[in-house]
Amino acid sequence: MNDYLSRTGRIFDIQRFSVHDGPGIRTIVFLKGCPLRCKWCCNPESQSHAVEEMTLAGKTKIVGKDVTVEEVLEEVEKDRVYYKRSGGGMTLSGGESLLQPDFATGLLEGAKDIAINTAMESTGFADFSVIERYLPFLDLYLMDIKHIDSAKHKLFTSQPNEKILENARKIAEYKGTRLIIRTPVIPTFNATKEEIGAIAKFAASLPGVEEMHILPYHRIGSDKYAGLGRDYSLKHIEPPSQELMNELLQVVRGYGLKSQIGG
Ligand code: SF4
Repeated sequence: MNDYLSRTGRIFDIQRFSVHDGPGIRTIVFLKGCPLRCKWCCNPESQSHAVEEMTLAGKTKIVGKDVTVEEVLEEVEKDRVYYKRSGGGMTLSGGESLLQPDFATGLLEGAKDIAINTAMESTGFADFSVIERYLPFLDLYLMDIKHIDSAKHKLFTSQPNEKILENARKIAEYKGTRLIIRTPVIPTFNATKEEIGAIAKFAASLPGVEEMHILPYHRIGSDKYAGLGRDYSLKHIEPPSQELMNELLQVVRGYGLKSQIGG
């Protein structure tokens, strides 16, 4: 038996048949716990590592469950036939998978051992010595770069960005893992040509990076804040218009990057 199969970690969901967060049809494993507190986060139940209660539409559910690598891989394997046909696989999401390295690297190594494609959606906010453990088992790193200005990054996400930018360069330099940059477009935070342009310029400077996706702000998930007894601080913000998103798309493409709206 492979030693990683008995490792345990905390997840809050497994979503099958996703066509986002990587190529083809994918199973998304949502790990619980995140070091950031983005004001727009559509999965606020992902942020705390603790098991919590969340009430939605009058129903209370427990969010967070401890599982083994083996249990998750059994679920992931169910759709192998769809991955094969579509070029899909397993994506780790969250929360932030970098907070549970033994479990997350066990999932990635396990998936690779059974020939399943791997991707991870991540902020890259960790010591590079942690990230380095993931890369040998990772086909695609979908990395969020939310702002180039560290003070503004901290104001809206609770953390500065120096470590994230430094890690983006190191991940880009690693041969064998493809890196795609993703940027949520949040009015009042970064939804201007200058701010998105600064991120695109940085992304285009990373070796081997050819793609940057821009993801429009939306309100899906805002009711979860009340369900967790928390306040949603971006109530006053409207999603960006299609016209603005198209303009930002052109800005990103102007830096020679392939780009799309949405992930
Ligand atoms: S990094 Fe992602 S999961 Fe973490 S708080 Fe921000 S949006 Fe939410």
